[in-house]
Amino acid sequence: MKPNKSRCKFIFVTGGVVSSLGKGVTSSAIGRSLVSHGLKVGMLKLDPYINVDPGTMNPYQHGEVYVTEDGAETDLDLGHYERFLNADMRRENNVTTGQIYEEVITQERQGKFLGKTVQVIPHITNAIKDRIRKVAQRKDVVITEVGGTVGDIESLPFLEAIRQVKIDHGSENVLYVHVTLIPYLKSSDELKTKPTQHSVGKLREIGIEPNILVCRTEKPLDFPLREKMGLFCNVPVQNIIAAPDVPSIYEVPLTFVDQGLDKIILNSLNLKSRKNGKGLDNWRAMVQKIQFPKKRVSIAIAGKYMELKDSYKSLIEALIHGGISQEAHVDIHYLDVTHPDIWDHLKNVSGILVPGGFGDRGIEAKIAVVSHARANKIPFLGICLGMQCAVIEIARNLCQLKGAHSTEFDPNTPYPVIDILPEQKKVKDLGGTMRLGVYPCKLKTNSLAYRAYKRETVLERHRHRYELNNQFRKKLLDAGLLIAGEYAPKKLTEIIEFKSHPWFVAVQFHPELKSRPLEPHPLFREFVKAALQYAR
Ligand code: GLN
Repeated sequence: MKPNKSRCKFIFVTGGVVSSLGKGVTSSAIGRSLVSHGLKVGMLKLDPYINVDPGTMNPYQHGEVYVTEDGAETDLDLGHYERFLNADMRRENNVTTGQIYEEVITQERQGKFLGKTVQVIPHITNAIKDRIRKVAQRKDVVITEVGGTVGDIESLPFLEAIRQVKIDHGSENVLYVHVTLIPYLKSSDELKTKPTQHSVGKLREIGIEPNILVCRTEKPLDFPLREKMGLFCNVPVQNIIAAPDVPSIYEVPLTFVDQGLDKIILNSLNLKSRKNGKGLDNWRAMVQKIQFPKKRVSIAIAGKYMELKDSYKSLIEALIHGGISQEAHVDIHYLDVTHPDIWDHLKNVSGILVPGGFGDRGIEAKIAVVSHARANKIPFLGICLGMQCAVIEIARNLCQLKGAHSTEFDPNTPYPVIDILPEQKKVKDLGGTMRLGVYPCKLKTNSLAYRAYKRETVLERHRHRYELNNQFRKKLLDAGLLIAGEYAPKKLTEIIEFKSHPWFVAVQFHPELKSRPLEPHPLFREFVKAALQYAR
């Protein structure tokens, strides 16, 4: 395999000591700081698990499944990449061990390696490097985040592949960033560097010498401590960057740039800024709106994966973006619909969001929550399953269709107001077979949605198998439902609204996946605005 002679530079981000250190945010923040220098930045997440994609995993296992424009079900870090870089990712920006093995084994069966023993090195590592180079095409820099923690068995082939990239492309074109934890010991009032020394030691054992350490800490890193770490880890002291806990993740690029991380990267990789860093001005202005909000508003998410906030990552971020657009702080109330005490909490909010989901746990409570929002004229946003719940609620309570339901939860319902998409009836394999990715939606001009988007056709991302059943369209319309948007070629309902209500909008797609801090999604902007009005 010939290394391609692209002039692209490679940054690799690994993690040490513990998981959940925020490698995704670190990679994205580095990405943003380089974009602000006018560079073309590619992003790649390498995931060590054997699943081909996270689409079949429970949100408790893996957090939210992030869907790209081209319909790939990916790791939630791609959401961070899109939000920080304000750019669309694609299927090629997330690679799993499962994909790599699937590809190599398929080639082996086709006879592409005739006569050879197919091995982890070089065949698996070559396939990994090919995927890295694919993202590098037409980019100045590609930032590759290696999932998992250094020392795990699973991520070894990925680490071996990124080690080889330096040999293939030259050390002046490759940079290794290690994200690590500096724990604070209360009893001795000290920050401890030993876990980092060990984890850097582990990396060096496999031939990777980190150039930069990004240190997660809850206390400031003083100079003597940085010096000590530099000495033991063989890293120049100025390349030891502190990543203290900050109230908003969007502050992280600024924390890095304040410590000169962008300059260190440009110098090490011999890259020239095209904007002298001025490109961060709009980002700074956005962060200031988060830091100094002029108003506050409370909005409830009524879902069922409330113990793990990662399950609703994009939704939470989209609400924050909606807040940015109104210079408001959104207090998010996480309500678990499977708990009976939600009704007390609902009294204190000015907006209610019912998110997407699968499975019938909590479904009746979600329908009751929609009813509450509709009857009390509380601003309501339903997303995917949330829209389906709204249709069921209106069918049961306003169309007198007793027992109306989705066939996902009650296959024998007398009124299947939500039913499986015709093309889904043939589906046997569950992985990657939902209605996925972007579809155009045509809006009615007399709708709240049109007022929000200010255009007639919008592109939104999907991940579902069921839809509003057109047999019941007329009954629902007679009851006051407005079909505000549809996918015209198949007459699929994409947006519903309820006429005699100040702001009741529910969508079959996932608008949260397209919201960015620099460009809040129109529906989240209007939802937060409606909630602020309701609060007044
Ligand atoms: N379970 C529903 C469906 O498949 C909703 C999916 C979702 O909310 N993402 O249509």
